[in-house]
Amino acid sequence: MELVKTEAKKYEDYLAIIDTGTKAQLDYFVNKMQGKRIAMVNATSYGGGVAEILHSMVPLGKDMGLDMDWWVIKGANEFYNVTKAFHNRLQGEEGHLSSEDKKIYLKYNELNATTVEAWDYDFILIHDPQPAALVEYLAPKTRQNAKWVWRCHIDTSTPNPEYWNFLYNYIKKYDACIFTMEEFVQEKEKLRNLTFITPSIDPLSTKNLEMDLDEAKQVIARFGVDIHRPLITQISRFDPWKDPLGVIDTYKIVKKEYPSVQLALVGSMASDDPEGWDYLYRTLRRAGEDYDIKVVTNFNGVSNREVNAFQTASDVILQKSLREGFGLTVSEALWKGTPVVGGNVGGIKYQIIDGVTGYLVDTVEECADKVLRILRNPTLAREMMEAGKERVREHFLITTHLLNYVKLLDRLEE
Ligand code: UDP
Repeated sequence: MELVKTEAKKYEDYLAIIDTGTKAQLDYFVNKMQGKRIAMVNATSYGGGVAEILHSMVPLGKDMGLDMDWWVIKGANEFYNVTKAFHNRLQGEEGHLSSEDKKIYLKYNELNATTVEAWDYDFILIHDPQPAALVEYLAPKTRQNAKWVWRCHIDTSTPNPEYWNFLYNYIKKYDACIFTMEEFVQEKEKLRNLTFITPSIDPLSTKNLEMDLDEAKQVIARFGVDIHRPLITQISRFDPWKDPLGVIDTYKIVKKEYPSVQLALVGSMASDDPEGWDYLYRTLRRAGEDYDIKVVTNFNGVSNREVNAFQTASDVILQKSLREGFGLTVSEALWKGTPVVGGNVGGIKYQIIDGVTGYLVDTVEECADKVLRILRNPTLAREMMEAGKERVREHFLITTHLLNYVKLLDRLEE
């Protein structure tokens, strides 16, 4: 396991954004955590929503006075292949969990536990399935009364039972389990301190800071986008659950009625995602020779500022997921006042109130219909912008998220 370094954040910068009630509660609970040590553990420091959140939450928590570290587990391809299958199958894909795969999964959890000396943390928050079995191997090295919390970020509403049952053996050992939504939890009975907390965005990160529209347009022009024509964008890893192929099919329907439209598919390639490259190539094949489709990744120079620019300057943001733990990209776009059309699944349903803060869709045809509606009706888009931003401010900011975590830790102490 390895400690992750993060860039410093200042709590005082957030005070202009949060309300006084949230501040008072944060101050109270952070104060109660004095002298307590907290570890966050996940599988990757880059790519995907969990890394995104921890890059903000850990330094913000530290600046508030929390003693908090962030660790990532290490693995090799065989481990990442198995955990990718875990991810897909816990989200519902069919398939058999072989004893070989179980062995590989446990081997790397055990190996990671051997890389640290005695662990002096009071609270250990494990994110997602990859490191979930650490509770088995690391617990003997931690304080006896350390509290273990498992935080699930994925959409486990219809899991493959073989995978769920295997994972359940470990998560039932935790002192608390956090899911995003009630519908994600199977067999609640033996899970202790079951808690529901939504993820969040950092309004002051480079990705979400307000960007001038002209500046945003200049940035996206560098990727070949014609800034004088309408643009639809999806920002996502290249993953079947994010349905980039469905996004291209949507665009093709829209294009017939609205020929000037362009599509950008912006995707980062995460280090623990071997399937990502295969799916990127499939996406490129579906895009074919249409030069109005831009497929860009972190390898073309897309980083946080560029994601911000795409979210700011697009006419519509899509998040056409088929399963979705939360979908930070939805809140990121809503926060910038850009209309969003999202798949009617998982955490997207929390963020988009259909017809008010955006549209929820079940099919490619419906998606195209809603995109056309937004493109043709700027007044409607403006109304949605305001409602969307308010929803994010109220529910999905990093400060509220951190508050919900410390409240839970405080409860576990009782
Ligand atoms: N992201 C990014 N660059 C990309 C694609 C995605 O920075 O090219 C970010 C995106 O802005 C969001 C996170 O990665 O903050 C993805 O989180 P989300 O919850 O949407 O999906 P996940 O990848 O966790 O399933």
